[in-house]
Amino acid sequence: MAPPVSAERSLELRRNLEAVLAEVNEAAAACGRKSGEVTLVAVSKFHPAQDVRALAGFGQMDFGESYVQEALVKREELQDLDLRWHFIGRLQTNKARHVAGSFSLVHSVDSLKLAQTLHKRAQALQTLQEVLLQVNLAGEGQKAGAAADEARRLAQEVRGLDSLALRGLMLLPPMVDEPEQARPWFAALRELRDSLERELGVRLPHLSMGMTGDFRQAIAEGATIVRIGTRIFGERAY
Ligand SMILES: *Cc1c(COP(=O)(O)O)cnc(C)c1O
Repeated sequence: MAPPVSAERSLELRRNLEAVLAEVNEAAAACGRKSGEVTLVAVSKFHPAQDVRALAGFGQMDFGESYVQEALVKREELQDLDLRWHFIGRLQTNKARHVAGSFSLVHSVDSLKLAQTLHKRAQALQTLQEVLLQVNLAGEGQKAGAAADEARRLAQEVRGLDSLALRGLMLLPPMVDEPEQARPWFAALRELRDSLERELGVRLPHLSMGMTGDFRQAIAEGATIVRIGTRIFGERAY
């Protein structure tokens, strides 16, 4: 096992985590929501397993990763801990079989082909894979995510795959200068969720939205999961 982080790094991670949790709770309270309604996913991509281990020691159990290979190596190294791993990155169909059954929640399902691959693998493992649909509300060509009307169809189709449990929607909004400018996108994701619930007659409890720069706005618009990396770990060295 790799040696633990320095005392200095440990203190830094602890302070950052505590500050973020306080701000998440504050943002929830400010709009009349309970703090327990919002789950903090600490996004550990590009940061070492030892950082994750230190944070787990402070009670943080939900971690997010964007790259399959990196995530699986880290997961292996930390298998003695009872962590909940979230897959939040772009997922290619040919890697999906490594993801099904290894992550508590896959946030980035955006095509039927991907959903079917996850379903088949989960079925083989006799497990139920919880998933979110990633929606590309702005229709940005280069970005992952299903367009809003595609998401409607996809939600219907995913409901027919019995080894997948559809739990809600995920959003990565367009880049903006001011966090307040992201707010209409967060509101739009909530509205899409509400309309899907009515149309399909299902509960979609989760809205995964909000990162380091804009999690307050996301919480004000109904986020139940915020994905925060930089604010906890510091800058990523790519
Ligand atoms: C990297 C990443 C995050 C974390 O971003 P920060 O700005 O570092 O908080 C959140 N969501 C997704 C999908 C990411 O890829």
